[in-house]
Amino acid sequence: MRIAETVTFGSSGLDRAAALRGDADGLAALLAQGSVLPVWRGKPLMDGDALGWLPHDSAVFSGAGPAVFLGLDEGTPRFARDVSDWSPEAGAEGVAAGFFDPSLQHHPALDARFAFAELRGVMVQLSARDAELAATAKAVLHWHRSHGFCATCGAKSDMAMGGWQRNCAGCGTHHFPRTDPVVIMLITRGNRVLVGRNAAWPEGMYSLLAGFVEPGETLEAAVRREVAEEAGVTVGAVRYLSSQPWPFPASLMFGCAGEAETDAITVDPAELEDALWVTREEMVTVMAGLHPRIKAARRGAIAHFLIANWLADRLD
Ligand SMILES: [Zn+2]
Repeated sequence: MRIAETVTFGSSGLDRAAALRGDADGLAALLAQGSVLPVWRGKPLMDGDALGWLPHDSAVFSGAGPAVFLGLDEGTPRFARDVSDWSPEAGAEGVAAGFFDPSLQHHPALDARFAFAELRGVMVQLSARDAELAATAKAVLHWHRSHGFCATCGAKSDMAMGGWQRNCAGCGTHHFPRTDPVVIMLITRGNRVLVGRNAAWPEGMYSLLAGFVEPGETLEAAVRREVAEEAGVTVGAVRYLSSQPWPFPASLMFGCAGEAETDAITVDPAELEDALWVTREEMVTVMAGLHPRIKAARRGAIAHFLIANWLADRLD
């Protein structure tokens, strides 16, 4: 797909400068002259409509985790630090669970224009560069928070290589940030596309089917298996379209197109609440927000991107 990388969180060409990660003294010097993105419980700091980059010695970083080196942004060293141990005033913590947390948290050390915000709520307003930096920061900081102990021997591990590795002091194993592959598929049959909904989603929202790729499986096989399991539809030819880093918390979405060979839908109630075929004409109404029953996938998500480009005949 020629416009694959125009998806939200698509590559902005960030120079990750991986060769600098092993030079701890060099990174310390870069940190002193660079800028740092605080991430609080998965939420990046926003400065109005852009990311909230702060100097390394901001009071916000009191008690924060070590800095992760994100790369060089047109020469500016960019870092991220986890500030999840900070507690906002009582009642301002936001929604711990659920599909989307719309609450904002303001830090007392910063002007009122700064706030921690759910990335899903701001992702489409960020520049491509800020979106890549935010996705990278959120994903790698989440990995550090959830992988503090060695999977081989159980001892505590420590951040190394500018945040791109953890080393176990007990057995010496090196651990690397993980990314979980997910297939998300635009399954068509003639002029109809297959969509489904999960019971936990906002009322009326339908999206493309998706699922984790299993060990030992190709993307194509995962597409066919997931569609058969979730909707009982047989899929023939499958092709890759576009990928999207999706740091909620650590996925890489592989957008694929698949041709259905059967019509009948049998929903697996453990996976989906409903699935249905939607014609191209009806999907135009859905995407315009004018459909009486069906709501579109969230803008910024690859499902929205694939459906919009299917409607516009831009999947080539
Ligand atoms: Zn170990």
